[in-house]
This record gives sequence, structure tokens and C-alpha cells, in this order.
Amino acid sequence: MTTLPPPSAKKLGLVIDLDTCVGCHACVVSCKEWNSQSPMGAPLADLDAYGAAPEGTFLNRVHSFEVTRDAGPPVVVHFPKSCLHCEDAPCVTVCPTGASYKRAADGIVLVNEDSCIGCGLCAWACPYGAREMDGAERVMKKCTLCVDRIYNDTLPEADRVPACVKSCPAGARHFGDLGDEDSAVSRLVAEREGFALMPDQGTKPVNRYLPPRPRDAMPEIDVLAPYLDPVTEGAGGFLGWLDRALGKL
Ligand code: SF4
Ligand code: SF4
Repeated sequence: MTTLPPPSAKKLGLVIDLDTCVGCHACVVSCKEWNSQSPMGAPLADLDAYGAAPEGTFLNRVHSFEVTRDAGPPVVVHFPKSCLHCEDAPCVTVCPTGASYKRAADGIVLVNEDSCIGCGLCAWACPYGAREMDGAERVMKKCTLCVDRIYNDTLPEADRVPACVKSCPAGARHFGDLGDEDSAVSRLVAEREGFALMPDQGTKPVNRYLPPRPRDAMPEIDVLAPYLDPVTEGAGGFLGWLDRALGKL
């Protein structure tokens, strides 16, 4: 089993806005693209991609739900999900080889693929389903917070964020230090009452989600109403005569 380092002051993570995510999957695709060419490990597998039972490794997935409310019509919520870089990460402590580990300096949880024996224990231990067994390489994969981007000084500074954050067209993904209460991400969480996923699991996730804002109620409008208003007091012509004649019967 593997030990965790003492909690770090720096806690890098993501803040995901469920109000503005439009479920476009741009973050899923950019994550897959970046991590398939990363020197951090083997490419993310795609098996039987054009066959009857396609299967692939994705470090970030978006699930969409229709939520029924007490009042008003149902709303659709898109829920992006990846590793939450937990403080008390059970996926690390359960690992028999030390392949899964949490960095003492910034709290990022990583897998050393050279030491991974593909036993899958960490996937069983993670309550969020955030680990992915690679079907081709038989090693465990997970979100790295794009550790090979965020510290990469060969990239322009604006690009030193996770690929998913960079590509999100809705600005729904934010990256930063959630251990620093003055950071932009911490302020955003405080302002919007961001929440941790399944806190009852005791894993102390670093990532936070911002709840959907209440939707404006649309007044009931009959868009055809102007066209259904009578244009004259009574119908004319043959139909008017027929209508009046039948009315006398
Ligand atoms: Fe481990 Fe799952 Fe927490 Fe990520 S979300 S650190 S894989 S327990
Ligand atoms: Fe949502 Fe942004 Fe991901 Fe699109 S790219 S699914 S808007 S988080």
C-alpha cells in the first residue's frame, strides 16, 4: 500500500461551472488529443473505433442529465467529470506498488505507468469513477491536470493551463490554486457557493463545481395569438352568408 504526503499548502485543481457548461465535449476531445501525444505515458487507446462495440480511454467525460424541478420545466445539466485530485485519495493508499501517488508540492495525483501492474484496485477505490484502465496498454490512466503543460516554460504563458480549460468555448472551466484563498478560483468558489463532490466519502476532493443558477421563468406566450384574432366583426362572402344561415336553424 502507498502512503500519502502531508497535505500541501498548494492545491492545484479545477473549478467547473455547471451553469455555463453547454455539454459540447470540446474539453473531452482536447484532453484526449493532448494526452495521447504526451510523453507522460502511453497514448489513450481507441479500440474498435468504427466497429459495433467501440471502446476508448478518456480522462475527462461529460455526462448529461435532465433534472426535474418542483416548479417550471425540466432543465438539462451537463456534468464534466475527471479526477478531483483528492486530499485523502483512496486510489493512492490502495495501490500495492506505489504507482499511484500524490505530489507533495502541489497535490496533483498521478500514476507512474512503469510501476502500474494493471490490478485495477485504484479504480475500485475511487468513488467517482475517475480512473480509466487503458484497454491497449493495460495500465491505469487518469487526469494529470496537464502537468506537462502547466509547468512547461516552452509554452506561451497563456497556454500553461490544462488543455480542457484552454479549449472550453463557454469559459466553464477554471484552473488554479484552491489552497490559496485569494486565488481567482478560490474567490470564484466563495462567490458562487462552489461545492465538493460527494463530501460524505471523506476523500476531500480539491476540484469544485459551481451550481447552475436559477433559470428565469418564461411567461406563457401563445405565439400564434396575433394571427388568431378575428380581423373583422363577422365573416363576409359565401362563408359569411352560410355561417349566418346555419345560425338561424
Ligand atoms: Fe483518486 Fe478518484 Fe480522488 Fe482522483 S477522484 S484522486 S482517482 S479517488
Ligand atoms: Fe462543458 Fe466547456 Fe467541456 Fe464544452 S468544453 S463540455 S462547455 S466544460
